Amino acid sequence: MGKRKKSSRKPAPARIKVPLDTSFTCLFCHHEKSVTVRIDRKEGMAQLVCRVCDQRYQSKVNHLTEPIDIYSEWIDAADEAQKMGSTSAVRRPAASSSRPTPRAPSADDESD
Ligand SMILES: [Zn+2]
Repeated sequence: MGKRKKSSRKPAPARIKVPLDTSFTCLFCHHEKSVTVRIDRKEGMAQLVCRVCDQRYQSKVNHLTEPIDIYSEWIDAADEAQKMGSTSAVRRPAASSSRPTPRAPSADDESD
């Protein structure tokens, strides 16, 4: 009977908890990592905020939603908003009755 090395004690597995990336580059002010996403799974809501330009975005989440999902949603939403904005900027004025288009006098018809 020799000395027994106590080898049963395994070192804890080096499981490094990599924090999920929750900081992103802002679409509006282009600061890196200025956008943070907070997910409140209890509320089922996520809140995205840029601490530089104070852009905000809120969305619903489920148990699978990750901050990156909110971020890409935000990009889509911003993209959409921009499209909407540009369409409204070039929208044609509605044809109204106050159009200053001179019309040929109808009296001309009679003398034909
Ligand atoms: Zn920003």
